[in-house]
Amino acid sequence: MSAAGPDLELVVRVDQTRCVGTGHCAASAPDDLALGPNGRAYPTHPTSTARDQLSEAADLCPVEAITVHLARTGEQIAPLD
Ligand code: SF4
Repeated sequence: MSAAGPDLELVVRVDQTRCVGTGHCAASAPDDLALGPNGRAYPTHPTSTARDQLSEAADLCPVEAITVHLARTGEQIAPLD
């Protein structure tokens, strides 16, 4: 299996009803998160392997709008309590 195999594929979700548009996440994970025209963040790709950046983005979000999941199992890997 390659380094970017299915076990490393992540799905990031943004709850747009929570997002207040600070932009912290887009700064932490600019390849995967951006602010849309409505001022709220959204994922720019269906999946990603940028675990560190996405975990940081989820941890930094002040309103806990971001969750990161393993694509294969759906297990949430960030934020963790
Ligand atoms: S860090 Fe959270 S509140 Fe700020 S733009 Fe990203 S999702 Fe929205």
